Amino acid sequence: MRRNIELRSDTFTKPTHVMLEAMFSAKVGDDVFGEDEVVNSLEKKASELFGMEAAIFCPSGTMTNQLAIRTHCSPGSEVICDAQSHVYIYEGGGIAVNAFSSVKPIHGHQGKITAEQVRNSINNPNDIHQPISKLVSLENTANRGGGSIYDFNEILKIKSVCEEKNLILHLDGARLFNALVETKETPKDYGQVFDSISICLSKGLGCPVGSLLLGNNDFIQKARRFRKLMGGGWRQAGFLAAAGIYALENNIQRLKEDHMRAKRIGEFLSRSKDVKSVYPVETNIVIFEVNDYLTAKEYVDKLVLDGIRCIPFGHQLIRMVTHLDFTEDDLEYLLTKL
Ligand SMILES: *Cc1c(COP(=O)(O)O)cnc(C)c1O
Repeated sequence: MRRNIELRSDTFTKPTHVMLEAMFSAKVGDDVFGEDEVVNSLEKKASELFGMEAAIFCPSGTMTNQLAIRTHCSPGSEVICDAQSHVYIYEGGGIAVNAFSSVKPIHGHQGKITAEQVRNSINNPNDIHQPISKLVSLENTANRGGGSIYDFNEILKIKSVCEEKNLILHLDGARLFNALVETKETPKDYGQVFDSISICLSKGLGCPVGSLLLGNNDFIQKARRFRKLMGGGWRQAGFLAAAGIYALENNIQRLKEDHMRAKRIGEFLSRSKDVKSVYPVETNIVIFEVNDYLTAKEYVDKLVLDGIRCIPFGHQLIRMVTHLDFTEDDLEYLLTKL
């Protein structure tokens, strides 16, 4: 029987029945007036989870990252990040457009940069030719690194460089929970190190829409102003916040299942004659390179005939992402088609 298996991204998840029930029964208000109690409690829940002062609920991870960058930076600032990071390559040039700032792209390893690389990328503040190094942005897990997880000790070293050099540290944690369920650190460990954290509810956690930006009271207050300015002041957003509360309470630990399935896909692919190499599978993302006689597009188009969707990630690179709508049964089917 032909199936419909969606592996292009973990954003494709649809709310489950129980999540929908939580959404339907939300007692909403007007969030621009600060009167949507469901949004307020989601923001409180998330900030308490990370031990941070405040949070703001937004439509997308792009918006939470961009609000952070806009709030931390000023015209002529520079953001230090990996050359493959989402904030740099997938947010429409927002660092330039929204924050009038430039980027120092670092060629890291599997989407991750080191404290040494950060130190070597800081401009001389007394040289008027150079933009002012202001913000370091890390991504965990790193999407283009194949869902790779940062070594927390390296994050701590990066933090010391930031403290020494007076730089702000932001985390694009679109898939931070995928890292957290695989490591011994807690959300509070992250909350102590980063000045701001963006997390997505609409990926592995299974919400239809939504991301949160976390930081101190003053920072979130400023971000709230910029959110309004960008047209992101939403009204009865509590229906969506209710999904977020449900997800934070129920959908974190199960991410491990997605990781187990991704690992099985990775192991299977590494034995396939069509596949040249597979990135190490650490979480729910599998990135692999097809052999020379194939292109990513040809490989992807062939799988579509079996009802399987994945995404070209370069000329010969392909990405598959597992998530809560990809079941054990789907996995068994997939493995017969690869
Ligand atoms: C998905 C993603 C985001 C945010 O994406 P939106 O589609 O705007 O919610 C940010 N960073 C990374 C690493 C992502 O994978």
